[in-house]
Amino acid sequence: MELPISNKLSNLGSPFGGQGAVAIIGGGLAGLSLSIQLAKAGYKVVLFEKEKYPFHKVCGEYISLESWNFIEHLGLPLSKMNLPIIKNLIVSSPGGKTIESNLDLGGFGISRYLLDYELSKIARQNGVEIFEETKVNDIVFESGLFTISTSTATFQSTVVAGTFGKRSNIDVKWSRDFIKQKNNKLNNYIGVKYHVQTTFAPGTIALHNFKDGYCGISQIENDEYCLCYLTTAQNLKTNNNSISAMEKNVLQKNSHLKKIFSSSTFLYQYPVTISQISFDKKSQVQNHVLLIGDAAGMITPLCGNGMSMALHGSKIAFDKIDKFLKKQITREQLEDQYRIEWNKNFANRLQMGRVIQSLFGKIWITNTFISTIKYFPFLIRRMISSTHGKPF
Ligand SMILES: Cc1cc2nc3c(=O)[nH]c(=O)nc-3n(C[C@H](O)[C@H](O)[C@H](O)COP(=O)(O)OP(=O)(O)OC[C@H]3O[C@@H](n4cnc5c(N)ncnc54)[C@H](O)[C@@H]3O)c2cc1C
Repeated sequence: MELPISNKLSNLGSPFGGQGAVAIIGGGLAGLSLSIQLAKAGYKVVLFEKEKYPFHKVCGEYISLESWNFIEHLGLPLSKMNLPIIKNLIVSSPGGKTIESNLDLGGFGISRYLLDYELSKIARQNGVEIFEETKVNDIVFESGLFTISTSTATFQSTVVAGTFGKRSNIDVKWSRDFIKQKNNKLNNYIGVKYHVQTTFAPGTIALHNFKDGYCGISQIENDEYCLCYLTTAQNLKTNNNSISAMEKNVLQKNSHLKKIFSSSTFLYQYPVTISQISFDKKSQVQNHVLLIGDAAGMITPLCGNGMSMALHGSKIAFDKIDKFLKKQITREQLEDQYRIEWNKNFANRLQMGRVIQSLFGKIWITNTFISTIKYFPFLIRRMISSTHGKPF
């Protein structure tokens, strides 16, 4: 097929004025933050996002403060946005018992609708070419060059970053190992999110457990709250695939959730939902594509830190891609160094997240765990700190 010349990255594919071209597949936090760093360093960057900004995403919207400086450095003035800072954690068991803890580092609240949109604007201002409503269907590597196919055109580039999130058509196309896994304790989850107006302590995040899941609530911008939960696909199936029936029959058995669901104003008619979430191990490089964010490995939302891992992962990837495009390292070194650095930073956190995930869900285990651990506050703090990183 003859390509429109403007769509050909191939003329940028080899070093161009001393700089190279990078294609980024997926414009969430990992993709947008990587694109901004590369564009600021002077590289040609093209980013593909299948949706159109701004758009809602399933996410608890609590970001660990470890990311604050990095996001500001990208160009988003968080300090001027009057965002809620969150320093306390409440966890309730399905039976309604609670434990509370200070969060040593803490976090802040901002919707993905706002955050991703603002970062996409910063990316464009820095020269990133963003193709919205453009789904990438395939990425093929041959003779040192990637060919990226979308439904309308084909592009070529020297480096590709796969930042396509938890589960995408590319994962299926590549038949990645986590896609082939049978249903187990670490996969087949669903996520549901609302924005609500409610009365709740602004500086607190609460995690309310229910049978086979947990629901978080914390404040975001404009005095709104994000109410977001994760549960098994089986829970929904048992409730005739009805979200409202599941919320009534299962979530609201926890008295704290019953109060929230009955007293809040829900700001959109239908929730945002996703399915087939997997916390199984993933590869960090596949078919020579560097995978960043959830595409490289997803931490359980209970640990509240996937966004910081996506952002931090982009910083690690940027450093390696920069060296590769400057010809300081080979492609093989780029891939090895990225994989090693990623694992050094995140592998233990992910493992701890999987262990914690297994302690929640089953009613008696969660009830017993929460009744017991409240007498060991140092253990609570240690669990929190082992799933969080340091400012980067
Ligand atoms: C229920 C739940 C609650 C969570 N709560 C929190 C929380 O409170 N705090 C926290 O830090 N983390 C939380 N997370 C995790 C967090 O949302 C993710 O870790 C984070 O969004 C990862 O960013 P990303 O850039 O890797 O992926 P995403 O933000 O998902 O971005 C991927 C992008 O790629 C696009 N895309 C996919 N395929 C293609 C394609 N073929 N072509 C073009 N575009 C494509 C998608 O449209 C999407 O915009 C939660 C997750 C869940 C499921």
